[in-house]
Amino acid sequence: MTAEKVAAYIGIGANLGDARGNVQRAILQLDTLPLTRLTGQSDFFSSAPVDADGNDYVNAVARIDTQLAAQELLDALQAIELEFGRERPYPNAPRTLDLDILLYGQQKISTEALAVPHPRLTQRAFALIPLLQIDPLIAIPGKGPAHGFVSGVAGQAIRKI
Ligand code: AMP
Repeated sequence: MTAEKVAAYIGIGANLGDARGNVQRAILQLDTLPLTRLTGQSDFFSSAPVDADGNDYVNAVARIDTQLAAQELLDALQAIELEFGRERPYPNAPRTLDLDILLYGQQKISTEALAVPHPRLTQRAFALIPLLQIDPLIAIPGKGPAHGFVSGVAGQAIRKI
């Protein structure tokens, strides 16, 4: 039986090394994952680190259609992070690449390894604004239309680059 195709949204961030290049290459990598196709991407944005140190982040959101299960997708994203040399010396350390599952269809997932929708999606302009660029009418399961949260993040400086 073929698994159903799910539209998932991946938040991408980097603030170490060639951050912009890493974000661009990571988006292309998503298209090479098994049973997965890249179907959209936002512009690139720059944002100051939140609760973290280091350079400003380069952020983007990508949309994929995938038949990978959510945990398989997370495993694949973590493998890409490792390929880009991601290390975790301490929480919120600067990173060559961070990949988060923001949405996985309209599913709510809560396991030890995975919280979807991403718990901070509605609180972070660098995830919410690029997500809305791809899909202005997207709804967040359990929370309603994503655009309803924009006013709450209006004070967070992000700029298109
Ligand atoms: P980070 O250091 O920000 O990359 O966090 C990675 C950890 O967050 C991993 O151990 C994941 O298991 C966990 N995690 C929980 N929910 C998510 C999600 N929606 N997307 C990515 N990682 C997640």
